[in-house]
Amino acid sequence: MLTIDNLHARVEGKDILKGLSLTIPPGEVHAIMGPNGSGKSTLGHVLAGRPGYEVTAGTVTFDGRDLLAMDTEERARAGVFLAFQYPVEIPGVSNMEFLKASVDAVREHRGEESLDAVTFMKKARAACKTANLDQTFLKRGVNEGFSGGEKKRNELLQMLLLEPTLGILDETDSGLDIDALQVVAEGVNSMRGADRSFILVTHYQRLLDYIQPDRVHVLAGGRIVRSGDASLALHLEDKGYAWLDDEVA
Ligand code: ADP
Ligand code: MG
Ligand code: MG
Repeated sequence: MLTIDNLHARVEGKDILKGLSLTIPPGEVHAIMGPNGSGKSTLGHVLAGRPGYEVTAGTVTFDGRDLLAMDTEERARAGVFLAFQYPVEIPGVSNMEFLKASVDAVREHRGEESLDAVTFMKKARAACKTANLDQTFLKRGVNEGFSGGEKKRNELLQMLLLEPTLGILDETDSGLDIDALQVVAEGVNSMRGADRSFILVTHYQRLLDYIQPDRVHVLAGGRIVRSGDASLALHLEDKGYAWLDDEVA
């Protein structure tokens, strides 16, 4: 599904990713943990193709294609989803209109017909239910006055409707209470399948109690310095990151 090889990237002239390699097979959930400032969010932005993130070396292959050669839109249409891709308020455009346009664009890319309004509404209502959002949420302006928790649930709502091939969640769990955390986890779990993979960036082992990862990686100093199964997250929770300092150096 996704093969990252020796990726180097810089932001504002500063090297952040320094030889990151990672392979995610189809159907797997990989958690990425690591100290603050190690490059976790940068990795998400580079994969999504956010402007300002300059790749200086390395390759990324997604579904057999050169991901780095695709622009941001193309990547989204090809099924790469980074939560928080649209953090801006768009007054006058309802959440529903925005979601419908996003879904139509993705379907068009896949060669599928756009959904009629009734079918879309049905899906949107079901997704609201899964995300534990009131139906009136669909009528509100995009991100207009969303609370922190609503923004996180909205990420889940977007993902449920866009049905990505690769879902990247960057600290979607931070600031969520335990009930909201479970809602997000159940939403992700409901989407797991043989043809869909996830990258979960998280600071807390807690999320991984609800979403069982196939692999856990530690990103430090711009590289993956350790990989293991779910027990690695427990070890990190217990020991922190200091024991990895030698490897980082
Ligand atoms: P993490 O998500 O692991 O906490 P980030 O990827 O957000 O780490 O940041 C990695 C490093 O890159 C940090 O030192 C951060 O200050 C720097 N950085 C990230 N984005 C920018 C930016 N837009 N401009 C300048 N420096 C940035
Ligand atoms: Mg950070
Ligand atoms: Mg971050």
